[in-house]
This record gives sequence, structure tokens and C-alpha cells, in this order.
Amino acid sequence: MHLDPFELHRPATVEETVALARELAGRFDYLAGGTDLLANYKMHLNAKPHLIALDRLAPLRERRLDRIGAMVRLAELERDGAIRSAYPALAEAVDQVATPLVRASATVGGNLLVDTRCFFFNQSYFWRASLGFCLKADGDRCHVVPQKERCYATFSGDLAPALLVLDAEVEIVGPDGRRRIPLASLYDEGGDGIRRHRLAPGEFLAAVTLPEAARRRSSTYAKLRVRPSFDFPELGVAVACRWAGDRLEHLAVATGGLETYPRRWDDVTAPFVGRRASSELFREVGAAIRPRVRPVHNTFLPPDYRKQMTELFVRRALERLAPTSGAAG
Ligand SMILES: Cc1cc2nc3c(=O)[nH]c(=O)nc-3n(C[C@H](O)[C@H](O)[C@H](O)COP(=O)(O)OP(=O)(O)OC[C@H]3O[C@@H](n4cnc5c(N)ncnc54)[C@H](O)[C@@H]3O)c2cc1C
Ligand code: SF4
Repeated sequence: MHLDPFELHRPATVEETVALARELAGRFDYLAGGTDLLANYKMHLNAKPHLIALDRLAPLRERRLDRIGAMVRLAELERDGAIRSAYPALAEAVDQVATPLVRASATVGGNLLVDTRCFFFNQSYFWRASLGFCLKADGDRCHVVPQKERCYATFSGDLAPALLVLDAEVEIVGPDGRRRIPLASLYDEGGDGIRRHRLAPGEFLAAVTLPEAARRRSSTYAKLRVRPSFDFPELGVAVACRWAGDRLEHLAVATGGLETYPRRWDDVTAPFVGRRASSELFREVGAAIRPRVRPVHNTFLPPDYRKQMTELFVRRALERLAPTSGAAG
């Protein structure tokens, strides 16, 4: 495995970055911590001849309770007491990304836009060549769901489900200026599975913003992985809720590690709002989400098992967030 040559650009301002993006259209990737991108480049996975590094853009490193810059390192979030206590699900997700060494370089923006994964894709060039490559890189068919239209690689970032249940938005900058959209709208649910986000050409993530209301919710994140020391999620479940006494006033559940994009399940959870805390309620919410998730067999653990664990993780998360310990009994 080796890196092919590329030209590295390190603009110092947002304006310079946008001008470069215009000039190099279609021939570059943005570079944040590089922990995902450069590993993929070493395996010759859709490498580009130019990289635009975002590390010199000071506004992307700002860190406040309501606004986290895209270039904030996960290790910085891990040590930020105010953010940890305001957003427990986010803190728990950050703690479970990769290893301390990776988190020292990995960024928030890179985690939200981490490439999707598949065991037919995250392989060396020679391994992939032996199968005739695949739709996502260098080939024309999918080995997981045999057809030539769509890729089913799995979204494997840990932060997205946690930020989705906290109603996060993302601030985007590009040739047409600045815009803000809900995090859920960043992901392309109807696409070909290869282009995993809805950023327009040249656009980059500047920051994640969090509403004040998110700080009044209890939240948690649980992750299923093979080796707890550093593996990507085979399933990630985030839950946020607010109780009025023992009555459920607000509920949000999001999953990752199952499909090509992370999802929030508002249509499934809405009917449960207003119910009283009980072990029956927690079981029902988990059971309602289970049939809706659609993992395919392109990661280590089989889809049926991951579906089963989705139900269990949702139930356990609700038990954990229950207003009194007796409520789950
Ligand atoms: C051993 C190992 C274990 C890992 N385990 C996990 C894990 O358990 N969970 C997990 O979530 N991840 C894991 N990762 C993946 C990765 O380390 C993290 O997702 C990390 O947060 C990616 O951030 P980065 O800054 O390094 O992104 P980069 O690698 O720099 O970029 C990732 C992608 O995002 C794009 N990008 C980055 N920032 C921006 C921006 N601001 N605007 C537009 N595009 C942008 C890049 O062009 C690239 O396509 C692991 C990686 C390794 C090497
Ligand atoms: S899901 Fe199919 S197209 Fe996508 S990476 Fe895997 S084998 Fe390739």
C-alpha cells in the first residue's frame, strides 16, 4: 500500500479555499485529519490529484456550546467538560470513535462525512482487482446486492446519530456563499449510495450548531462493534428524551452503522410521545424500530443479528434514560 503523488494546498482563508475549490473542480478532496481519507488513498480508493487542507481556517476550529467548528478534533471534544455535560450522547459517541491516537487527529467534519464502508471496498487494489472491482470504485457492479445501479456501503460514523437526536444543524460554505441545513438533510437518502452527501460542488462543512433545547434533554449513545478497542460501528443507536414527571414529552431515536446514511426515526417514535415510562413502553419502541432498519451483509456481523441488537439497544437506552429507576420495572 502506498500513496500516489498528490498536490497539497493549504489556503489560509475561507475566500482562498472557495477560489481554489472553483479552480480545481472535480479534481480534489478536502482534507481534515486525514484518518479516513488517506487510508483510502493508500488503497487507491477514488484518490484525487489535489487535496485542499482545511487546517489553517481558524473559524473552523471554534468551539462553543452552541457551535462546534468542523475542524475541532475529537480529542478536544473528549476533554471539553462543558460539552460533555451538555450533550451526553455526543460525549459517549466521541469516546467510542477509533482509538485515542486516531481521535487526536480526527475531526468533527471528517466524522460526519466519513466514507461509507463495505468489505468488498475497504480492501487493497489487488484484492479488489481479483473480483473485477465494484460500482463504488473502478468497477460497474455491486457484489452485495448484484445490480449496476446502487451501492449499499454502510455509513459508519459515530457522531451523526448522536447529533441527529440533538437536532443539530450544519453550516456549509461554498462558491454560492454560506447556508445552514438540518444535519439530516446533509445525507442523500435517495442517491446512488456512492455520493453520500448533498454538498454542492466546492462546498465544505464549516460547523455544527446545536439548539439550546438540546441541553434540556437526557441522551445516550450505544455502539455495537467487534473489537471495542477501535472498530467502526456495526450499529450505533442514539436516543434523546425529555420527561415531564414519568410522562414522555419528547423522544428522538437515530441509528447509524446499518445503511448508507444515518437515520432518525421520528415517524416510528411519534406515537409513543405522551406515554408513561414503563418497561412495556421501552420494549415497544425497540420492537417498532427493528423491522424498519435494513442492514445488508457487507460488514462483519450478519444483518439479522444487527437488527436484533437494534431493538435491544433502543430498549436499553430508554431504560437508562428513564426518569426513575423504578420506572423500567
Ligand atoms: C483504525 C481506525 C479506526 C476507526 N474507527 C472509527 C470508528 O470507530 N468510528 C468512526 O466514526 N470513525 C472511525 N474511523 C474513521 C475516522 O478516523 C473518523 O471517522 C474521523 O473522525 C474522520 O475525520 P478526519 O478529520 O480524519 O477526516 P478525513 O479523513 O480528513 O476526511 C474524511 C472525509 O470527509 C471529507 N471532509 C472532511 N472534513 C470536511 C469538511 N469540513 N468539509 C467537507 N468535507 C470534509 C474528506 O474530503 C473525506 O472525504 C477510524 C479510522 C481508523 C484509521
Ligand atoms: S455495496 Fe456494492 S458497490 Fe458498494 S462498495 Fe460494496 S460491493 Fe461496492
